[in-house]
Amino acid sequence: MKILLTNDDGLFSDGLYALKDALAPFGDVTVVCPAAERSGVAHAITWGVPVQVSRAYLQDGSPAHIVHGTPVDCVLFALAELFDGPPDLVASGINTGMNAGADVFYSGTVSAALEGAFHGVSGVAFSTDERGNAGRMDAVAAQAARVLRGLLELGERAPWAFNVNIPALDGDAEPPVRFTRLYSGGTRVSCIPIEDPYGRLRYWLDTNGERGPAPPDSDIGTLAAGHISVTPLRGDLTDGDLLRRVGQSASEGLDIT
Ligand code: MN
Repeated sequence: MKILLTNDDGLFSDGLYALKDALAPFGDVTVVCPAAERSGVAHAITWGVPVQVSRAYLQDGSPAHIVHGTPVDCVLFALAELFDGPPDLVASGINTGMNAGADVFYSGTVSAALEGAFHGVSGVAFSTDERGNAGRMDAVAAQAARVLRGLLELGERAPWAFNVNIPALDGDAEPPVRFTRLYSGGTRVSCIPIEDPYGRLRYWLDTNGERGPAPPDSDIGTLAAGHISVTPLRGDLTDGDLLRRVGQSASEGLDIT
């Protein structure tokens, strides 16, 4: 099995190393990651200027390609240049910080996995509670491998994409793994006014804003119960319900002149 591994936290991320080692038993792992942390850049690509790519060796001595760009740049470069045929999987992470609910719209980790699916290669994104699992990234990666094994055994035809979130682990206990839907209620993004060192008003944007109670079958509700959340994702953002409603009220299409 040929696996492309990327992330959005850059080449010094513990999560990248732990996931690389956990993926090794599945096949050949090719690492292509951003040169610097690019969390929160979502599906951005570097556009209109060249992208620099360097061959490098990771801290553990293994070779990698370092892309001076975004996570999706990494996937696009790797699919175009590094594989004879398409790889079997794009793996992304392990991200330091959960990517649940609206986070998936901002996450570079999740977008890299989805980009794989856009190109016919199945993708899986892994994220975790970095505070709850501080210093335990290898244990998190073992859970990531456990989930991936289960996903591969499903035998679903490519391309698929799954967003996996691993909550704070309780000792060596293996949390239940649940298939979930994205939590879609409310927004998580907050905008907090702050003063800069010169007394000028600035704003701190964060994705840890208040939100309402999450249904138990949602990713956020499942994580709150201490379970691993696995959400199937796709790029089609079409609102099917709305499309049907407007289609019924204007079956000939809108009469706009
Ligand atoms: Mn990140």
